[in-house]
Amino acid sequence: AIVIDKVTKHYGPHRALDDVELSVAKGEVVVIIGPSGSGKSTLCRTINRLETVDSGRILVNGQPLPAEGRELAQLRASVGMVFQSFNLFAHRTVLENVTLGPMRVRGLSAKAARRRALELLERVGVHEHAYKMPAQLSGGQQQRVAIARALAMDPEVMLFDEPTSALDPEMVSDVLDVMRALAEGGMTMVVVTHEMGFARSAADRVVFMDGGRIVEQAEPEAFFAAPKSERARDFLAKVL
Ligand code: ATP
Ligand code: MG
Repeated sequence: AIVIDKVTKHYGPHRALDDVELSVAKGEVVVIIGPSGSGKSTLCRTINRLETVDSGRILVNGQPLPAEGRELAQLRASVGMVFQSFNLFAHRTVLENVTLGPMRVRGLSAKAARRRALELLERVGVHEHAYKMPAQLSGGQQQRVAIARALAMDPEVMLFDEPTSALDPEMVSDVLDVMRALAEGGMTMVVVTHEMGFARSAADRVVFMDGGRIVEQAEPEAFFAAPKSERARDFLAKVL
């Protein structure tokens, strides 16, 4: 579903992504780990063109990323993104947060958007809060609304950039459970996380980044049992 082909990205002189190659197949769950500053967020952001690249190509479903306009809007709609900070529209109800995108970008009727939104809010376990404002919800509940909002666009791929890092510990598992259910349901997912338990249990593949490069990638059992590179071993010694 996604092919990242020799992508390099600089911020000024700093090379944030260095010749990165990564393919994510349909239905695959790829967890990206690595130290702070290793380029994980930059990689996520290049996938839906929140960042441009200096060289290399990114294909989504065989198509190169469109530069602008309507095609770019469609592409963004097909790549759901969930960030560390929940980014809900503060002045809209929970329900409106989930219905606005499908009505504006997908052209759904208000009625159809509402029906679908209530279904999704139920699926992530926050339907009883549909008519509240985001600020009235806990962080974990807001993050589940953010997931429902992304799913409402019927994405081909979901990108998660440290979705649980800003949450109180007792709320982390609610969000991870929703993500695990999505993964089991066959969603194609790219997940940046420090939750090694999630990586072990939900990932098809773990990708370890350092210094803007993919240093190694493997199935989780193999990776956690015996990381090949010294940098990955050092990293795991710190986070496990
Ligand atoms: P973290 O685990 O802390 O979130 P990360 O792996 O997501 O780290 P990135 O945010 O991708 O790392 O950053 C990669 C490198 O690029 C870092 O050195 C960072 O300082 C730099 N960088 C990221 N965004 C920008 C920006 N907008 N302008 C300049 N430099 C940036
Ligand atoms: Mg980051």
